[in-house]
Amino acid sequence: MKKSYQRLRGTLDFYPPESDLIQEIVGKARNLFNTFGYQEVILPILEREEIFTKSVGKTSDIVGEKQMFRVEGKDIVLRPEGTAGMVRSFIENALYTKKDFYKFFYIGPMFRGERPQKGRLRQFHHIGCEAFGSNSPYLDVEVIKLALSILQECGIKGIKLKVNSLGCQQDKANLTNFLKKELISYRSKLCPLCQRRLTTNPLRVLDCKEESCRKVVSHLDISDRFLCKECLCHFNEVLSLLKELEIDFLYQPTLVRGLDYYTNTVFELVHKQLGSQDACGAGGRYNDLVKNLGGPSIPAIGFALGLERMLLLLKKPDLTSKVLVFVAYTSLNVYPQAYKLLNTLRKNKVSSDISYKEKSLKSQLRSAEKAGANFVIIVGDEEIKRGHLIVRDMKKSCQRTVECSRILDFFLS
Ligand SMILES: [Zn+2]
Ligand SMILES: [Zn+2]
Repeated sequence: MKKSYQRLRGTLDFYPPESDLIQEIVGKARNLFNTFGYQEVILPILEREEIFTKSVGKTSDIVGEKQMFRVEGKDIVLRPEGTAGMVRSFIENALYTKKDFYKFFYIGPMFRGERPQKGRLRQFHHIGCEAFGSNSPYLDVEVIKLALSILQECGIKGIKLKVNSLGCQQDKANLTNFLKKELISYRSKLCPLCQRRLTTNPLRVLDCKEESCRKVVSHLDISDRFLCKECLCHFNEVLSLLKELEIDFLYQPTLVRGLDYYTNTVFELVHKQLGSQDACGAGGRYNDLVKNLGGPSIPAIGFALGLERMLLLLKKPDLTSKVLVFVAYTSLNVYPQAYKLLNTLRKNKVSSDISYKEKSLKSQLRSAEKAGANFVIIVGDEEIKRGHLIVRDMKKSCQRTVECSRILDFFLS
């Protein structure tokens, strides 16, 4: 038996209609980004590992739990997320010396090196954006509104918005210290991962999905009491702006997100249909990241939507081809004329196709039907001598004779 190859675990092949659907989602996202004043960047998939250990954090799942896809023998990884690379590029190109405010978006693949499990792919795609240079709560709300608009425009209903504020570094440190003290007495009740987190990153215990950890967390009094005056004021403004725009949200003080670089506003877009990994997008502020990666102190905020998660929430469309016209022929004698006609149609942007197999007219009509063609132009031995073509309307099941010279007008008018 011949050897056959299978795709790698945790990767997906996309065919129509799913690949068409992806293009539609990407198109709608691009339009909305433009409407909101964001410009597209295309950045490398390969980056130095260090930019992620320094930004996402050594104790994050991505770095600490060795989820990055490393290039063997090098300090290079396939990017696990888009923000760190964006910040690296922003600093490297010294964009801040040219303008004091930037809004970018990106669409592309991201990678994980861990063993793939349900809902967690090895290669997946993010639609994301980043805004640099402002700490305005109005910008926080713009970014949230933009993420929601993309999901809505794609026809995804039932999304819930969860928001929280982690505060500045000092506030985060205060909360961390509080958690260290409080959680130590519950240590045995935490999952093994959270027991480790207790010393490395106690914040992460707050959003652990394990039932035992959630129970422990529910006893804690955290709310917004660890926010300093300035951060509390910022957060309250974000919340009241959301109300003003009539955006429903759930304030969840335990929402911390898995990445160390977040400060202040964090948010998650969840859908109950997605199960335990219920987020189809998330984002937040990272006001210290530009500085931490070697740039000046510039506040920033962004989000990323998971394309595959979005696909799970959309009904699969029917398999329909986009070919409008199928060119058929009654015999191989007229194939050259049929082929010429096909090229004329295409030159005039009429989507069209032909059979490249020697087939009877009957089976060509069947192929046309499978291709979803609305019309079939039949190039007939007899008709072509008189300068005529037959146009068959596949939807109405009727046909008429059209002069060769008028065929383009027929489709273009
Ligand atoms: Zn603060
Ligand atoms: Zn846990």
